[in-house]
Amino acid sequence: MVHSWPLDNEKQLLKAYYAGKRMESPNGGFLILLGVRALEGGVAIAIFECSASSLRYEMEIPKATRTERKQVRDALDEGDDPDCPRHGEGARLVRAGKDLVCPACGVAYARA
Ligand SMILES: [Zn+2]
Repeated sequence: MVHSWPLDNEKQLLKAYYAGKRMESPNGGFLILLGVRALEGGVAIAIFECSASSLRYEMEIPKATRTERKQVRDALDEGDDPDCPRHGEGARLVRAGKDLVCPACGVAYARA
């Protein structure tokens, strides 16, 4: 497997990531999303490739907060199909095993 490096300014990058904006690579160029991997405990890792250097980077995507879980739970209780609290409207959560997961963040927001 290719080694991937951690990114420094994760907070700022996460914001861009959730907004679907272009993310700048530390080497110039921008980051191309290769995939998202869910880890134990609800955390996910996004893997990127730099468009300029082809180096790989990874970014940890924090697990669902209490508030986010409640937001999704409330939508479910009202009979709605919940969207991802971070990606916003139109980013429908999908069932993955026993969880409702956002395909873009890899984070589980509720039990299906
Ligand atoms: Zn999401």
